[in-house]
Amino acid sequence: MSETISSEASTQASAAAKQKREFNKLQKRLRRQVGNAVIDYGMIQDGDKIMVCLSGGKDSYTMLEILRSLQRNAPVSFSLVAVNLDQKQPGFPEHVLPEYLDGIGVDYHILERDTYSIVKEKTPEGKTTCALCSRLRRGSLYGYAEEIGATKVALGHHRDDILETLFLNMFFGGSLKSMPPKLLSDDGKNIVIRPLAYCREADIAEFARQMAFPIIPCNLCGSQPNLQRQQVKEMLTEWGAKHPGRLESMFKAVTNVAPSQLADRDLFDFAGLEDKQRQWRETRIDALDLGSDVQ
Ligand code: SF4
Repeated sequence: MSETISSEASTQASAAAKQKREFNKLQKRLRRQVGNAVIDYGMIQDGDKIMVCLSGGKDSYTMLEILRSLQRNAPVSFSLVAVNLDQKQPGFPEHVLPEYLDGIGVDYHILERDTYSIVKEKTPEGKTTCALCSRLRRGSLYGYAEEIGATKVALGHHRDDILETLFLNMFFGGSLKSMPPKLLSDDGKNIVIRPLAYCREADIAEFARQMAFPIIPCNLCGSQPNLQRQQVKEMLTEWGAKHPGRLESMFKAVTNVAPSQLADRDLFDFAGLEDKQRQWRETRIDALDLGSDVQ
């Protein structure tokens, strides 16, 4: 009997040790990917005050956690301040984020703006509310960043958001664009960074699950999910499952653009190709002449 108990205990202990190893690997991967994105795009400079937009979803909790760990080891010094926008959605659990942030000792502000009522009032019945809601949220957060003197605004979009947006813009917007890892806002007042740009959503979801973040559901507004985004998400998930490496390759493509092999006349001077050809020929002829002088 006691032998059975001790063998069960040892099985449990080795399962727990394995789980811990897997979690450490996942955490390291996320840290490495965030660190690489930060370096590749020059996202953080010495003295930056980074406003971390915290919605209460898995992505923003993960972003805050990974940025906190980078902050401890980074060669530059920067500060973090978490900001949640309370949009006054019915049933929003106001205590959750303050309790969490007090518990981990992160500076924070809760910004209260009743964008929910505006969105409800302005959006026709049956239409999706997300576009107006996001615009109002962005406006409130960017304005607040300026008020508190934040030098960067960090958003929790990840690699899969970037790919989905790329396809949404291609399918429905007729443009080849997505969400850049670093961006200057249209009015030039804010620099927005996306430190999770290299991270897979599945990794973030698993990390959030293991960290047991107090997730606030994102459907409090009662909005229907964006059907187009949902369809693109399903398409990408299916591709990822059927063709390992395809999503990685597509993301690499976003970072490896060849303007001369596309068709945007603003990005590449197609009309100037004849001039280029002439210059190229002249250079070659000069080089040949020089070569013929050499005996
Ligand atoms: S799901 Fe609701 S809260 Fe989220 S962007 Fe859409 S309307 Fe806004």
